Amino acid sequence: MQTILLIEDEAAIADMVIYALKSEGFAAEWRRLGREGIDWLQQHPETALLILDIGLPDGNGFEFCKEIRRFSSVPIVFLTARNEEVDRIVGLEIGGDDYMGKPFSPRELTARIKAILKRSAIPMGSAVENPCVFAIDLVRCRIRYHDCWLELTRYEYQLLKTLLQQPERIFSRAQIMDMAWSEPEESLERVVDTHIKTIRAKLRQVSQEENPIKTHRGMGYSISGNVCES
Ligand code: CA
Repeated sequence: MQTILLIEDEAAIADMVIYALKSEGFAAEWRRLGREGIDWLQQHPETALLILDIGLPDGNGFEFCKEIRRFSSVPIVFLTARNEEVDRIVGLEIGGDDYMGKPFSPRELTARIKAILKRSAIPMGSAVENPCVFAIDLVRCRIRYHDCWLELTRYEYQLLKTLLQQPERIFSRAQIMDMAWSEPEESLERVVDTHIKTIRAKLRQVSQEENPIKTHRGMGYSISGNVCES
């Protein structure tokens, strides 16, 4: 379940937003103050999206946004009563993703949130800073993850290469074995899980907060992230 953080000082608005988020299947976390919200966000980098009020008792939402952008690229939707074009432009220039003027319809808010999450599922923001999450060096049989060349065993390399050659595609364990193992009949499908586990541990050593390999229950595995050949 994706968690959305709401930083909003007005309880009535917060109640309405939380209700709308929950009825759309999101988990909602509410903080009244900007400072409290930032603390929570620092402890929960997996937060899917932030809804940020502009007029907060302990500061201005635009300022909080600038501070958040120093450590997080979480999508941000501003909420404000100051529904003027100048605010809109300021908000988007300092790193906001969208903007809702109060009063707003909760349905419109959740529709926009879904659109943003869909957009940010393709890592466009990170693509600008780092165009290749993964790079495959087919000649030297090695794979780079962010800035690190991974230390992989032969099977780990074959397995990861198989997933990376078709990002987002779900491979069953049997398919992975056919493509990554030279003698698939000699191995057990369980072996795939073991190798996935060791590969995940190696990826985590490079980047704690990401988990590019997804498990699809009863179906298999897929990987996400931009891939380049090097
Ligand atoms: Ca407010």
